[in-house]
Amino acid sequence: FAVAWATLDDFLFLHSQPLPLKRAGLAEVVKVAVVKDASFFNWLETNASALAVCERDALEYAVEHSALLHASHIACGGDAFELGSSRPLDFGHWAAHYMETMSGYTLGHAEAVSVGMCLDILYSVRKGWLPAAEAERIISVLKTLELPVFHPLLSRRTENGACEVLKGLEAFREHLGGHLTVLMLTGIGWGKDVHEIDAALMEECIREMQEAAGYSVQE
Ligand SMILES: [Zn+2]
Repeated sequence: FAVAWATLDDFLFLHSQPLPLKRAGLAEVVKVAVVKDASFFNWLETNASALAVCERDALEYAVEHSALLHASHIACGGDAFELGSSRPLDFGHWAAHYMETMSGYTLGHAEAVSVGMCLDILYSVRKGWLPAAEAERIISVLKTLELPVFHPLLSRRTENGACEVLKGLEAFREHLGGHLTVLMLTGIGWGKDVHEIDAALMEECIREMQEAAGYSVQE
């Protein structure tokens, strides 16, 4: 890998894209706001309705600021190649990557990240790290942006009855070189690295998402 020397925000190209595709990209914008920048999240919350229809000025500001936050983390975070364990930009990604694989890559990355973030947000609440009211604000923004907050793949079980998506933690551990580090939220704009996940608690979060979505599982 080489470090990029520029990020191109080509708005002529962006505005030529279909609305659902443009809106999907906002999942990573919400992600970088919730892990890095509370005031940017406040702005996203205020402008969520304009962003949902990809209103030009709002979308361009969101893209530029998000690119800046991603780039400054990579350029100034002191670990451009992510050799250390902390990868805040991978928030919500352990489940997202695995759901993409489970779907046979029919599920888009952005949609998977939106669902993966919801899962880790609920886990952060159940662990007592993130206030429930802050979790509700983030999930509400995702919903306004018409990003998914649940996917039936979360409820899929393996032949021996295990929750299949949890295998994503093992895959993520391998991807990180053997030592698991997952960022969880302690507030909007703030996170902490954790190295162990309580699988039973994660399953409770999945059930909570499943119930909120009104999804019933055939046993
Ligand atoms: Zn991503």
